[in-house]
Amino acid sequence: MKCPFCEHMDTRVLDSRETDDNTSIRRRRECQGCLRRFTTYERYEETSLKVVKKNTEREEFDRSKVLRGIANACRKRPVTVSQQEAIVNSIERDLRHRGEGEVSSRQIGELVMQYLKGLDPVAYVRFASVYKEFKDVSRFADELKTLAGRTVPAVARPDEGRTAEVATTNESAPSPRGKRR
Ligand SMILES: [Zn+2]
Repeated sequence: MKCPFCEHMDTRVLDSRETDDNTSIRRRRECQGCLRRFTTYERYEETSLKVVKKNTEREEFDRSKVLRGIANACRKRPVTVSQQEAIVNSIERDLRHRGEGEVSSRQIGELVMQYLKGLDPVAYVRFASVYKEFKDVSRFADELKTLAGRTVPAVARPDEGRTAEVATTNESAPSPRGKRR
């Protein structure tokens, strides 16, 4: 198989095993030209599964697209790539087993949220806000409040006597003075 980085034709299989759900084989490969590593999957040729988008257009289910959405939500969060792949695998298997041949993008979004909610609250809220699951601002704010109780509290600034003027839910709180890295 051709190397995706340098297009060298000779790659070596380092490791080959079934995925947790036993529906595909994952192979770790190393390019013999540039020595970079990549992963390939071998799985059944699948029957068509169409995704109905909000504008009612249909497109073929694209697992890499779903994975990309999850990866974006999980950026800098403690959710591993294999956990992210496991979510997509479960969702795809579930949808294909339904045998309906068609699913709405909204249903996919809801499934992803169910999984993320159990794994990481921040990734969940990020994903949910992208998918506009929250129908109104107040519900979104409520969700943030609930989750805030489980995350690290706002950092107090001991070297500055003034009281905080309403610390908003800004993810990147300013670092204490003079401590920039
Ligand atoms: Zn290469």
